[in-house]
Amino acid sequence: MTTEEFRAHGHEMVEWIARYLETVRERRVLPEVAPGEVFDALPAHGPEAPEPFARIMADFESTILPGSTLWNHPRFFSYFSVSSTPESMLAELLSAAINQNGILWKSGPALTELEQATLGWLREWLGLPERFFGVIYDTASISTMHALIAARQAVAAETRESGAPANLTVYTSEQAHSSVEKGALALGFGSANVRKIASDGEFRMDVAALERAIEEDRRDGKRPCAIVPSIGATPTAAIDPVLNILSLARACGAWLHVDAAYAGPAALLEECRWMFEGWEQADSVVMNPQKWMLVNVDCSVLYLARREALSGAISLTPEYLRTQSDPRLVNYMDYSVALGRRFRALKLWFVMRSYGREGIANMLREHNAMAQWLEAQVRADARFEMVAPVHLSLVCFRLRGTNEVNQALMDAINASGFAFLSHTVQNGKFVLRFAIGNYMTTREDVAETWQRIQALAG
Ligand code: PLP
Repeated sequence: MTTEEFRAHGHEMVEWIARYLETVRERRVLPEVAPGEVFDALPAHGPEAPEPFARIMADFESTILPGSTLWNHPRFFSYFSVSSTPESMLAELLSAAINQNGILWKSGPALTELEQATLGWLREWLGLPERFFGVIYDTASISTMHALIAARQAVAAETRESGAPANLTVYTSEQAHSSVEKGALALGFGSANVRKIASDGEFRMDVAALERAIEEDRRDGKRPCAIVPSIGATPTAAIDPVLNILSLARACGAWLHVDAAYAGPAALLEECRWMFEGWEQADSVVMNPQKWMLVNVDCSVLYLARREALSGAISLTPEYLRTQSDPRLVNYMDYSVALGRRFRALKLWFVMRSYGREGIANMLREHNAMAQWLEAQVRADARFEMVAPVHLSLVCFRLRGTNEVNQALMDAINASGFAFLSHTVQNGKFVLRFAIGNYMTTREDVAETWQRIQALAG
């Protein structure tokens, strides 16, 4: 493609995206495709000869888009709802143009230093102290895995002596995201050494049960390595009591990693600060700008209070990557299993500057207000019941009735294409999750979806 052609296609594509954003509300959120349908619509072999760009774009419109679940849709209320803002999209385009690979400071000086600067700004916004060193990874799963690597390193000195790494245990809530267990499994902790602590009536980690589990394990010769509470656990956005859990972690010498992948941005809101009490004393914290902070997938931030625990475990410099040292110089490869890294800080920087702390806080508040409005509607309709407290932008409710009826209700709203909700099962009951978080979502989107849910409930 010549630069002239790039200019023409680029203009067309930006126009296409603008039109897409203006009309996305008219599209189905969930596609109507069967497994294998997209694959079968694609040629069995790659093209021998170059194909015109216009034909590729036409196939994108006719085959790829209709087979896509539209995460950037104002009525995507599933999982945790996310946003890809125009600012973030444009920054991604620039990032692709200069194609940085931030292995070392030398391989991407601006990438490295912009990451440090933006994560410093974000750290201040979140109310975390200066000792927290930030690293951007692709996902919260990988952030948490790196936190567990650091945790293991931090307790390694004593266990190396006894040769007992197999006895290291990880504690999290039964409500925690599966990434905690998966990270521990990937690192070889073993599933028998991952303790899923029971939760209370509000789905928060039961601190007394945690204390008992730690005591029992220590009696059995195990060594508590990490405790992972959540602020905004996936099923119902439960807020674990981080401060109380912190005391237990300190008493047994375990690393405290806080999973705030979804809820993290709410630390910007004065009225939500209570949820974060104690996280400033954690050893590490994960939050995802790619979830509720206007940055498109992928972008997850890990803050480490003791970054040397991570670099001590995985820093390794082959000869070809040897470079100068300088007290101000950071080589991000020292903090990551992956060597190469994209310029994700660029889109975070564009978003933070374009919206400012105020703009982001206003959006979060608006989403929380929509959730509170929805909660009031659910409570006002005797056919429904609320299942969990609404602290943030997630509303968990169900029809008073069987699991089958609730599953059918969710399937019906999702099959309509109008909106997309997900579910959880709590205490054996099927529960609908209505997660608000897209920057385009309006009160009308929420109200109209609720009206359709009511109508489908019969
Ligand atoms: N932690 C929490 C609380 C989550 O809700 C999720 C996903 O929704 C994750 C971790 C995993 O996120 P990722 O897809 O970025 O790995």
